[in-house]
Amino acid sequence: MSKIKIRLSSVLQQIRAAELKYGRFRNSVQLMAVSKTRPESDIRLAYDAGQRCFGESYAQEAVAKVHSLQDLDIEWHFIGPIQSNKTKDIAAHFDWVHSVDRLKIAQRLNNQRPDERRPLNVCMQINVSNEDSKSGVSMEAAAVLAQQIDALPNLRLRGLMTVPAPQNDFEQEKMAFRAIRDLQIQLINQGLALDVLSMGMTNDMDAAIAEGSTIVRIGTAIFGARDYSIKG
Ligand SMILES: *Cc1c(COP(=O)(O)O)cnc(C)c1O
Repeated sequence: MSKIKIRLSSVLQQIRAAELKYGRFRNSVQLMAVSKTRPESDIRLAYDAGQRCFGESYAQEAVAKVHSLQDLDIEWHFIGPIQSNKTKDIAAHFDWVHSVDRLKIAQRLNNQRPDERRPLNVCMQINVSNEDSKSGVSMEAAAVLAQQIDALPNLRLRGLMTVPAPQNDFEQEKMAFRAIRDLQIQLINQGLALDVLSMGMTNDMDAAIAEGSTIVRIGTAIFGARDYSIKG
C-alpha cells in the first residue's frame, strides 16, 4: 500500500472521529486533498485510493494538471490567490473557487465561465484575523460583497472560506472559525443560501470541524511536507 493511501485513510478516520466527538453528523465533513506542488503521480495515487476532490493554489500549475489528468473523474477546487490575468483559465478549468475576495475577480469569473459548463461554485474568502498580509475580504465588507456575488448568474455563491492566523491553543483556534460560522448565519438570515464552510487545514482541522466546517483542505497530512524547490 502506498504511503499516500495510508495517510489518506488516517485523515479520513480523523475526520470521522472529530465528527463524532463534536456532535456533527457522520459524513457531514468532506475532505479536499490539497495537491499544490505535488506531482501528478501523487494525485493518481490518492485517486486510486478513492479521493475525488482536489485543491490547487497556483493557476498555471493547476491548469497543466487538470489537462493531463483529464482521464480521471476529479472535482477540481481552486483555493489560491487570484490575479486578474488568471481568471479565464480558472473559470474554464475548475468546478469550485474558494478564494473570491473582491468584486472585480467575481465579475471576471462570471463573464469568463464557459457557456457549456454549469455555474461555477464559489466561496468568499474571509480575512478573519484581519491580517494585512492575508487575502480575503474583511468581516465588515463581507455582506455587501456576498450580495454582489450572489447576483452574478454564472456563479453560485455557496459559502465562506478562511485561513486563520496560526494559534497554539484549541480554544483560540475555535474562536476564528466560530466567527465565520456566525457570519454565515448572518448572511443566511439576509437571504443567501450558503451551505458550505471551507475551514480547517492539517494543523487546525479538529477546531474547524468542532465549529461547523463542511469541507477541510488538507495537504501535508496526506502528501507529506511540501518542498517548494521541486514544484511538480
Ligand atoms: C496549502 C493550503 C492548504 C493545505 O495546507 P496543509 O497545512 O498542507 O494541510 C489549505 N488551504 C489553503 C488555502 C492552502 O493554500
